[in-house]
Amino acid sequence: MPVVFAGHGSPMNAIEDNAWHWQWRLLGERLPRPRAVLCVSAHWEAQGARLTGASHPSTIHDFFGFPQALFDVRYPAPGAPKLARRVEELLGGHRHAHVDATRGLDHGAWSVLRGMYPAADVPVVQLSIDTAQPGEHHYELAKALAPLRDEGVLVLGSGNIVHNLALFDWRDPRPQDWAIRFDGAVKRRIAHREHNELIDWPRLGENARKAIPTPEHYLPLLYVLALQRDGDRVRFFNEDVVGSLAMTSVVIEGADA
Ligand code: ZN
Repeated sequence: MPVVFAGHGSPMNAIEDNAWHWQWRLLGERLPRPRAVLCVSAHWEAQGARLTGASHPSTIHDFFGFPQALFDVRYPAPGAPKLARRVEELLGGHRHAHVDATRGLDHGAWSVLRGMYPAADVPVVQLSIDTAQPGEHHYELAKALAPLRDEGVLVLGSGNIVHNLALFDWRDPRPQDWAIRFDGAVKRRIAHREHNELIDWPRLGENARKAIPTPEHYLPLLYVLALQRDGDRVRFFNEDVVGSLAMTSVVIEGADA
């Protein structure tokens, strides 16, 4: 299976008929159909590593001030309790991995998945992120997930490479210079598989500090990069910067795909 990092941006992208949403749709149609999705979303921060274990996870509306239509969305994809236990087992070498039987799917997961699999017929498990841990922790943890690519599981990271809402100007969403520069710098390193510099992003300088004021939207990228194999192809899509937000997304897949 390929691995995917999707920039999710505003929750409205879940229901808006826009180019980003359509790219999610096209991606879902193009990729080999997964047995299940393991999603690492910016919107589930927890200590340790938690997994959704419900067989019918609820749809979490973890945002405020959006139209009722967005609160009305349900994404009734089944869970995959067996996969949750499999991932728990794979992460067994790491402390505090455990299955949460009640947690639902957050909008970082369902906004993108609603585009990719609109029929909600691909089972979904979410893995939380422990944002107190440094990049190296996440990259190493993700490596333990490598067998999933051979088990028909699509690992999907959902966040944003550049995500600074404090600097977002709603009256002028033109891309900000520093955001374009940082997005480009990250893309170059992804293209050249220079992961060490991306793992240690605080050393990338002032633009990194602006782009990643808090790490939750950036970290899902590291889970995806950690699963890259020799010979894989890297393809970018939704390469747009809006104000202080980058929608830049990546598919990593075998060269024969
Ligand atoms: Zn978000």
